[in-house]
Amino acid sequence: KKIVIVGGVAGGASAAARLRRHSEKDQIIMFEKGPHVSFSNCALPYHLSRTVEPAGKLVLMNPEKFLKQYNIIARVNEEVVAIDRTNKKVKVYQHSTGKTYEESYDKLILSPGAKPIVPQLEGLDTIPTFTVRNVADIIKLRSHIEQNKVKTITVIGGGYIGIEVAENLREAGYDITLVEGEKQILRPFDEEMVQVFHKVLTDHGVQLLLGSPVSHFEARTVILASGEKIPTEMVVMAIGVRPESKLAQEAGLEMSPTGAIAVNESYQTIDDDIYAIGDAIDVNHLLTGEKARLTLAGPAQKAARAVADNINGIEIKASAYMGSSAIKVFEYNGASTGLNENIIKAQKLGLYYDKVHFILNDKVGIMPDSNPLHFKLLFEVPTGRILGAQAIGKGDVDKRIDVIATAMKFNATVYDLKDLELCYAPPFGTAKDIVNYAGYIAS
Ligand code: FAD
Repeated sequence: KKIVIVGGVAGGASAAARLRRHSEKDQIIMFEKGPHVSFSNCALPYHLSRTVEPAGKLVLMNPEKFLKQYNIIARVNEEVVAIDRTNKKVKVYQHSTGKTYEESYDKLILSPGAKPIVPQLEGLDTIPTFTVRNVADIIKLRSHIEQNKVKTITVIGGGYIGIEVAENLREAGYDITLVEGEKQILRPFDEEMVQVFHKVLTDHGVQLLLGSPVSHFEARTVILASGEKIPTEMVVMAIGVRPESKLAQEAGLEMSPTGAIAVNESYQTIDDDIYAIGDAIDVNHLLTGEKARLTLAGPAQKAARAVADNINGIEIKASAYMGSSAIKVFEYNGASTGLNENIIKAQKLGLYYDKVHFILNDKVGIMPDSNPLHFKLLFEVPTGRILGAQAIGKGDVDKRIDVIATAMKFNATVYDLKDLELCYAPPFGTAKDIVNYAGYIAS
């Protein structure tokens, strides 16, 4: 078989590697329009604070290694610009030469990702504006700061990427203003939980402006809907991403209501020979049973593996996800999974639920690094089905949320949490862990 892949990063590169494990004979060609394949998108912000240095470390594989180690042909700076479904060919534009050529396929996998949304607000062209999606973006951003000796930067958008960029730029010593149109940052956390992060950011000198979206820009100034003016030398736009589905749409493939590429349970589009994975598709939501946008690396890589298996005759159905994620904000960590009150209300899910909400020490109190951990868990009434959980603290929040996510995946109820036998010694936790307490309090 000849398998062509569009996109050479999280989904694309994982699919290519798994395909090769299935068959040594298949021809595998991966197209990446940018200059790098297989880089760590998630570590990009950490280059701004020099935590990951030099930028080359962000790139995990290159076309030479792909060819030598896996016999996978990775073509960088080559963009698939059209799909001829009738003749099973893609049209490829070579950025280096300006030429186009065609490449045939037996199976085509689309993993083009999602691109940052940049609203065309008045005056945007009067201020240097950056987005963060790939290694080239982060190098460009840092070079601009260093070459122009920039001091004041405004980050627009309080989602994961905006917060990580703001944190890392602040760590590097710049004056940072973070603008978020909603009353809170980080929507995977409920409003009362996220106050911890609001305080941490402010304590570290990030100017946090909530509840007023950007109206427009004037030279070296961001103007909010409230009229407030923020003098700034440059802007990082991080207000969200949109599925990169234009190529698929132009090829006549079906789109989902969210604008993602529509796929069936085998990740097939309406064309049996074309699959799509990653940020460009919707996932099945474990709790709502609906399709949902979830731009996370885990689901992308798992879909990549499943597609490679499906193409090789091992039938794997699309799994369901609930959005387990984690973030570090200076010395604090946050993790969450499933639904929260924001989502239940916004999506009018009509669930009857109760919650446990407490602050407990994450380790035995006399240990020097014992710290309070803020914990919130929602469960359905009267079934006890766990709907979601959030944890914020200086210690291991992800461990607690991972346990809850695992329990949810296997349909445990909140009452089952009491009996979970979890590891304990003073440097790690308490004999009755926070997860156990959630069960006790709910009972
Ligand atoms: P990508 O990995 O984005 O790869 C798509 C590639 O396709 C792109 O490089 C693009 O250039 C290329 N492409 C698009 N169209 C074409 C075309 N026509 N021809 C050729 N090439 C094309 N997720 C987490 O779970 N945890 C995190 O901590 C986390 N942090 C993140 C931090 C940042 C700054 C960013 C940007 C993302 C982060 N993510 C994180 C999200 C995660 O990186 C994505 O969910 C994941 O990369 C999606 O994989 P993908 O293959 O769909 O898209």
